[in-house]
Amino acid sequence: MRIRKNAPWSNVSKLHGVTPFLTFDPGSLEEICEAVRDAEVSNVRIRAVGSGHSPSDIAVTDGYLISTRKLTNVLPLDTLQLQASADPGSLINLEAGMTIKALNRYLEQKDLALLNMGAIDAQTIVGAISTGTHGTGREQISMPGMVRSMVLVAAHGKIYRVEPSNGITDPDKHTETSIELIQNDDFFYSLLINLGVMGIIYSVIIEVRPRYWLLEKRHITKWSNLRKDLSSQKLFEPDIVEIAGTNKEHLARGITVMINPHKVGGDHLCMLSKIFEVEQPEGHLRPKGRSKLSQFLSDLPISYWTYLWVVCNRPKLVPKLLNLVIKSTSSRILDLSHRVLHAGSAYIQNKSSSCEFGYRIDQEGYLKTIEDLFVKSSELATLYNLFSSIPIGIRFTKASKAYLSPEFGHNVCYVVTPALVEQPGFQLLLNSFQEIHIRNGGKPHWAKITNRIDGRIDLLQKWYPKLETWLHVMRHFNPDDTFSNGFSDRLGLTTSLVRKSYLLN
Ligand SMILES: Cc1cc2nc3c(=O)[nH]c(=O)nc-3n(C[C@H](O)[C@H](O)[C@H](O)COP(=O)(O)OP(=O)(O)OC[C@H]3O[C@@H](n4cnc5c(N)ncnc54)[C@H](O)[C@@H]3O)c2cc1C
Repeated sequence: MRIRKNAPWSNVSKLHGVTPFLTFDPGSLEEICEAVRDAEVSNVRIRAVGSGHSPSDIAVTDGYLISTRKLTNVLPLDTLQLQASADPGSLINLEAGMTIKALNRYLEQKDLALLNMGAIDAQTIVGAISTGTHGTGREQISMPGMVRSMVLVAAHGKIYRVEPSNGITDPDKHTETSIELIQNDDFFYSLLINLGVMGIIYSVIIEVRPRYWLLEKRHITKWSNLRKDLSSQKLFEPDIVEIAGTNKEHLARGITVMINPHKVGGDHLCMLSKIFEVEQPEGHLRPKGRSKLSQFLSDLPISYWTYLWVVCNRPKLVPKLLNLVIKSTSSRILDLSHRVLHAGSAYIQNKSSSCEFGYRIDQEGYLKTIEDLFVKSSELATLYNLFSSIPIGIRFTKASKAYLSPEFGHNVCYVVTPALVEQPGFQLLLNSFQEIHIRNGGKPHWAKITNRIDGRIDLLQKWYPKLETWLHVMRHFNPDDTFSNGFSDRLGLTTSLVRKSYLLN
C-alpha cells in the first residue's frame, strides 16, 4: 500500500487544511485493517476522507489519514448469502470511495438510478452517507436511507457487516469468515450517520431503482406570495403540468427555493423549483438538459472572481445582482433523474461555505428563521456594509430512522445560509446565521459549519432522543478514541471527560 508522509490535505473550500502525519491509500479491506492496527500501535488517531466536500472540519485529522481514492469499485453481490426476500436486482455493492458521479454513470449503463441525491455529484458515496447528505422532497429519503448493509473496520482492525435487525443477509448463510455480522437496529441506525468517528467503512450495499425521468420547472416569485403558500401548505398541492401538449395533474416530488436575503423593490425575489417524475419522453419530445452555455458560464472562474470583486468593492450592488442571478436560473429541464437533480454551479459552491439547519416541517420555525435572516442581513448591511452574497436555500426531506439525522422521526425543511469564503466578514455572517437557526429550533447538517454548538451536549441531548444509544454504539466501535478528531471532541461526543460524565448520568 502506498503511504505518504507529510502530504497536505484540505477540503474543497480550502477553509480547513492539515498535514496529517501519514496518508494511506488502501486498495483493499485488508489494507484498511493494516492501517488501523498501525495507528493503534503508534497511538495516533486515524480517519477516512472522501472527496473533502464537507465545509466543516469534520474530515480533518492530524494523525493518519485514509484516502479512499483507490476504493472506487463496484463489488460483486454475494446473492448466496442474501435473505430469500431480498431483491438482488435492486441492490448494488460498492467500495466506499466511489463518487456519486461515477456511480450515476455506472447505473445509467445498467438502466438503473439512485433513489435520490444532493445538488452535486462530487461526493463519495460513504462521505455523503456519513454526514446525512440530502436532496429535496417531502417523500424523498436522504442518502443514508438508501443503505442496506455496511462493512466497517473498527478498533483493533476488526471487521463487521452491519445491517438492521431484519437485514438483507441470511445469518445462516453468512460465509464471510473474517467478518462479524451484526443485525441490530441500534447499531445500524447509529452507524448510518457516523461522522467518521466509528471506524473506516470499506463498502456499502445500497438500494437503487430502474432509471426514471424528471421534469424540473423553475419560476420566479416573491417571498410574500411564497410565504402564504408555505404556511397554508398550498405549495405542496398537485400542479397542472404540460407534457407533450397534454395537461396532467402532478404532485411535485421535490421542491427547492432560492431566496434573495435582501429586499429589492419592497419584496424578496425567489426562484421556486418543482421537480416532477414523468414518463420517458417519446417521439418529438427530446430530453432537454440544463443549458450547457449557462452551466459553462457559471462554472467559469472569471464569473466567480468578478462577483467576488463586486462583493468586496461595490457591496451595495449585491441585492440587485442577486436578483439577476435568481432570474437567470429560470428554466424547464427534462432529463434522466441524476442530470436534473444535479443543480450545477459547482465552482462557486466550492468557493463558499454554509450552515444548514433542519426544521420540523409541521411547525413554522423555518418561516420565522427565514424572516429573522432577512432582518439580520439588513442589519449587517446597514451597520457594517457587510452584504450576505448568496441566496438562502430551502429544501425538504422525508423522515429518517438514522439516529443522528436532523430528520429523525419527522419530515424536515432544511434552510441553508451560505457565504463566500473569501468575502471579508464571512465568519461574522455564518456565526450570526447559526445563532438564528439555533434560537428557532433548527438542527444542524453535520457536514456544514457548526462551531456555535461547540460543547453544547445539552442541545444534542435535546435534539437527538437516541443520542445515548449512538454514543454506546460509537464506544463499541471506537473504545480508545482511535477514530475521534477535533470535530467530534469539540462537539462533546468524544472528549473523554464530557462523554464519561454524560454516560454516568
Ligand atoms: C458544492 C457542494 C454542494 C453540496 N451539496 C449538498 C447537498 O445538496 N445536500 C447535502 O446534504 N449536502 C451537500 N453538500 C455537503 C456534502 O454532501 C457533504 O459534506 C458530504 O459529506 C461530502 O462527501 P465527501 O465524500 O466529500 O466526504 P468528506 O467531506 O471527505 O467526509 C465527510 C465525513 O465522512 C467521513 N468519511 C468519508 N469516507 C469515509 C469512510 N470510508 N469511512 C468512514 N468515514 C468516512 C469523513 O471522516 C468525514 O467525517 C455539499 C457540499 C458542497 C461543497
